[in-house]
Formats: sequence, C-alpha cells, structure tokens
Amino acid sequence: MQDAITPPFNRDTRENCINTQDQDIYDVAIIGGGITGAGVANILSENGVKVILLERNDFASGTSSGSSKLIHGGLRYLAEFRFREVKTLLRERDYLARNTNIVKYMNFRILIDPYSWKKRTMRAGLFIYNILSKRISVPRMSKNNGEYGKEVAGYFTYRDAFSDDCRLTIYNIVSSVIHGAKCLNYCEVLNATPTENLIELRVMDRVKNREFNVKARICINAAGPWSGQVYRNLENGNNVNLRLSKGIHIVVPHEKAPTTDAIVFRSHLDRRQMFIIPRGEVTIIGTTDNFVDDPNDFNISEIDVDYIIQSARRIYKDLEKNDISYSFAGIRPLYGNGDNPGSISRGLTVKYDKYFINIFGGKLTDYRSAARKVAKIYEKLSGRKINIKNMPVIDYERPDLNGERLYRYEMEHECAIFSEDIIRRREAFDVYRVDRGASEIDVINRMMRDENSH
Ligand SMILES: Cc1cc2nc3c(=O)[nH]c(=O)nc-3n(C[C@H](O)[C@H](O)[C@H](O)COP(=O)(O)OP(=O)(O)OC[C@H]3O[C@@H](n4cnc5c(N)ncnc54)[C@H](O)[C@@H]3O)c2cc1C
Repeated sequence: MQDAITPPFNRDTRENCINTQDQDIYDVAIIGGGITGAGVANILSENGVKVILLERNDFASGTSSGSSKLIHGGLRYLAEFRFREVKTLLRERDYLARNTNIVKYMNFRILIDPYSWKKRTMRAGLFIYNILSKRISVPRMSKNNGEYGKEVAGYFTYRDAFSDDCRLTIYNIVSSVIHGAKCLNYCEVLNATPTENLIELRVMDRVKNREFNVKARICINAAGPWSGQVYRNLENGNNVNLRLSKGIHIVVPHEKAPTTDAIVFRSHLDRRQMFIIPRGEVTIIGTTDNFVDDPNDFNISEIDVDYIIQSARRIYKDLEKNDISYSFAGIRPLYGNGDNPGSISRGLTVKYDKYFINIFGGKLTDYRSAARKVAKIYEKLSGRKINIKNMPVIDYERPDLNGERLYRYEMEHECAIFSEDIIRRREAFDVYRVDRGASEIDVINRMMRDENSH
C-alpha cells in the first residue's frame, strides 16, 4: 500500500457527482460494483483513465458478499489438469497475502477417507500444488488420533488463504476513488445506447428515485450473475451462454464446530468438496452448487441446509439446524456448457466489440488477473497505453477505529448510505458475529437517521 490521502467519499460526493453528470464525458463506464467491476475500475483509474462505476445496490451486494471468502489456488482443479489456472490463482493468492492486510494465509486439513482422493493421489496433488506456489515440501499425512470419525484415516495439511469478500471489494472501490474514479452505489443502469462515438447510459438513482444520463466512450459489463441480462440489454437482445449456480453457506458459533485449521472434505452424500472455515467466533460451512435460472434467487431452501448439516455431521456429529446463526447465498456466473454446475469452468470469458466489453465468470481470487485482461482489451479498443505490470494495487486501508468513530468513517470515506451497508457489508456482522451485531444496530441506525435528517 502506498501512502495516499483518503478523499471524502460519502452521500454528498455521490449527490454532487449525480448532479454534474451533464458536464462529464467518461472514458469508461463500468456496470457492477462487485469485485470484478471494482478491480477493473482500480486498474484503469491507476492508469489515468476517466472512469465511472455504477452499482445498482451497495458495492459488494451481489456474489461478492456470498462467496466462501477463500483466496485459493483451487486444489481440486488439479484433478482436471488445469495447471496453468492453478498457477495463476496461486500467484494471485500470494500477491494478495503479501501485499495487503486483508488476505491472510490459513492452514487447511484435507481429510483422507473413503470419499476423498486416495492417499497417494493426494500426496502427489499437494506436491504439485506446492511446486506451483514455489514451495518445495513433501506432504505428509498426519494420523487421525480420534479428532475425526473412524472412517477418516488422517489428513494432509496445506496452505491457502482467506479474506473478506466485501472488504476486498470495497478496498478496491475506495482505491479507485483515490485514483480519481467516480463510484456510485444505488445507481442502476437501465439501458445503454451507442450514439456517434459515445454511449449514453440511462441510470436510475435508487436513493432519490430519479433518472439521469451518463456519457462514456466504452462501457464495461461487470454485472456478475446479471451480466447475461445486461448483455441482452446492451447487445440488442442477443443471448450469451451463461449458466447460474447457487451456493449457500451456513454459519454456526465456533464452539458448535470447533477447529483451528480449515477443513476440506467430500460430502458422503454426493462426493462434492466442502469447506469448514473457522472465522473468529464463528465457523462457516459450505457450500452447495445447483443450477438456478434467476440471478435474484437468493432463497435458502431446507433441502440445501439439510445437505450441509448432514454432510458436516460426519465431522461434528451433534451439529443441528438450531445451531445456525446465519446463512447466506451467492450465485456463480458460469460461462459454458455442462450437465452439472461442477463441470463448467470457473474461468473468465471476455467478449467485446467497439463499444462494449462484457465480462463473464471469474473468481474472487484472480480478480486482479481479470482486471489486467480487461485493461489490455481497453488498450486495444482505445489506442491508449495501459500499464498492467504488478497492477492493480490496493492504495487504501481502513484505519484502526471502532464503534461510532468507525461507522462514521465508513459513512464518510466508504460511502455507506444505509445502515445495512455497514451492518451487512462493511462490517458483515451477520456473518462474523454470533449476535449478528445486535448491540451495534441501534447505534448505527441512530447515526444514519441523524445523517439523513441534515
Ligand atoms: C457460493 C460461492 C462461493 C464462492 N467462493 C469463492 C471463493 O472462496 N474464492 C473465490 O475466489 N471465488 C469464490 N466464488 C466466486 C466469486 O465469489 C465470484 O466470482 C465473484 O464474487 C463475482 O464477482 P462479480 O463482481 O463478477 O459479481 P457480483 O459480485 O455479483 O457483482 C455484480 C454487481 O453488478 C450489479 N449489477 C447488476 N446489474 C446492474 C445494473 N443494471 N446496473 C448497475 N449494477 C448492476 C449487481 O448489483 C452486483 O453487485 C464463489 C462464488 C459463490 C457463488
């Protein structure tokens, strides 16, 4: 992180920006304020490109708050010989763990049991995984000394990393603002019409229920699971081969599923890989992988919850539905064909023409490599030289504050507009606190009421 002064980024700067849209023409307008849009905004604004990012809800309110929050190389992709992809993911993981304070390494135990890879295959897989991340070590299996059920012979320990998906997104958003980008939450793009050498976007300000226009030379569709809908809208009704898959997680108090290392295992129900991830006072367990048609389908069904509980009971035999403090869903945008979601690549596809760059798929872990890819396409379309080496960099870090001073800071410098923006995303109390932030909610509501009455 470089030293940078964090400018005001709040309700007033948002309002001013909307009110002066008539006078501005942007080089690039980005639709979507998840990790993909935020990463692209960051790399382009670092290069002096005049960027506006439009997000119809709050930043990170889509898939970028519903992930497993892991920054990982994708060990299981080795079974499909996707070495290059794993190498890229590991490189990105290591960059983020070494250069930011919001991505941290964590030990993972992968269980060896009748549902897992065989011990020998696992050892070979982890050996390759270590080599691809430039670590030479021969993986050894530790015996199960009664920590797990009898069918577990033992486990291998390897290293990956975790983060907070919302915070990673918001850090990239604020970093873009520091580099000169305009980022507007609660602004939905209704349509985008190319006119002579410009695109005119019709935008709805969902705070004040009013419409305004934005003019840009190039428009980037980074709408995650909604990118198919946005593509149809931008490209005259053309369809794209985007499938959607929902994944849910449950959150339980740490003492109900205690572990110091994360645990990776396969469900005995269908042999899908699952994670048990300790995060302070809670443990997150997930996930599912089922096709859905609607990108707004965040419903959490009893069937999905039962599946996770039953799978995890192999490790925590007393785990019950009543133990769940929170559950959340995310929708994966998957580009390609396949009979089941697991068989469709999690990789990134970019389609573009003179006016529009459309991004489909991708992962949290490699958002920087996605941003570099899109930046190179922008270079080609605009004829402007874009530097991508070691970029994008996160030039923002939240200061060490707590209570009212922290929430005030998030309103002033991270553009939290509603209480929920703090509770569910900037702090994510629902996920990380067993009481889901009960003691803080009144304070935050009062602060927001005071702010809005001015
Ligand atoms: C269950 C699950 C677990 C996962 N776990 C991991 C993991 O551990 N590690 C990892 O690397 N990856 C993981 N992923 C993948 C990762 O979460 C996603 O690849 C990533 O979050 C997608 O980000 P995005 O910005 O493309 O989409 P989103 O975060 O969904 O952002 C798109 C944004 O576009 C906005 N938008 C849509 N339409 C409009 C419009 N018309 N105008 C303005 N804005 C609009 C939406 O509101 C949304 O905020 C997981 C995914 C799922 C579903």
